[in-house]
Amino acid sequence: MPPLYDLHCHSTASDGDLAPTAVVQRAAERGVTDLALTDHDSVAGIAEADAAAKALAMRLIPGIELSTTWQRHCIHVVGLNLDPTATDLLKGIEQLGMVRDERAREIGRRLGKLGFSAAYDTAVALTGAGMITRTHFARALVQLGHATDEKAAFERFLAQGKPAYVGTEWVELGVAIQWIRQAGGVAVLAHPLRYKLTATKLRALLQAFVDAGGEAVEVVCGNSNHNGIVQIADLAKRHGLMASAGSDFHSPEQYWIELGRLHELPADLTPVWRRWL
Ligand code: AMP
Ligand code: MN
Ligand code: MN
Ligand code: MN
Repeated sequence: MPPLYDLHCHSTASDGDLAPTAVVQRAAERGVTDLALTDHDSVAGIAEADAAAKALAMRLIPGIELSTTWQRHCIHVVGLNLDPTATDLLKGIEQLGMVRDERAREIGRRLGKLGFSAAYDTAVALTGAGMITRTHFARALVQLGHATDEKAAFERFLAQGKPAYVGTEWVELGVAIQWIRQAGGVAVLAHPLRYKLTATKLRALLQAFVDAGGEAVEVVCGNSNHNGIVQIADLAKRHGLMASAGSDFHSPEQYWIELGRLHELPADLTPVWRRWL
């Protein structure tokens, strides 16, 4: 079987729809040989995913997607091949969990003011034991009949600038990179084109990321197009970064993103998995 890497996806440990075991099984069915589970600010799904992967002779790479702040922008940093029991990382996760809980209460208050008094409790129930995210509020709003689908819930209420959007101080970019490095992992700048930064600001972000110990950038994701890949590949080369590829799969309902369904990395880049192969 040829190797197929998917180094970015979510389970019920954060805002994915499938339990870790189901994510791993679905990835295996689609030919993924090396899968990183990268839940938002959580490693809680990794033990289960690892057990499922062992049963399927698939390689599970322990990962995370950390929420960070850089110059007032929320920037996602994926950590790959890390020790999910590392002390600083676990302390950091606890800290981010508190930030998320506090933010969720504020989102709930704002939705309450809009007349959606059940939104908070419904979102918490949908979250279960996982990390609470805006996705859970979007699902709650759909379930309660206040939005037709998750996308509409974001566009009307939860996206930046909308009435239930709560600006959040996550962890500083460099600190998150240190947590990943101290856990023996590789820090990957996630989906760089999703932050809607100007070209100048994006180059400044990559420079700051490299200066802080970041080693790779996500060149290919589940919704990448050719131009986007070429653009990030160029940035990767300029900044001497390795290249990662991950679908950012969340749910079978989002049929346009699928585990293992990815463009190939441009051949002139160094794949991030060289770091642990
Ligand atoms: P949070 O980290 O709690 O702010 O939630 C961010 C998550 O919400 C992302 O990881 C996506 O899964 C999801 N998300 C963000 N924007 C949108 C959108 N416009 N439509 C659907 N899902 C979104
Ligand atoms: Mn998400
Ligand atoms: Mn992300
Ligand atoms: Mn993600």
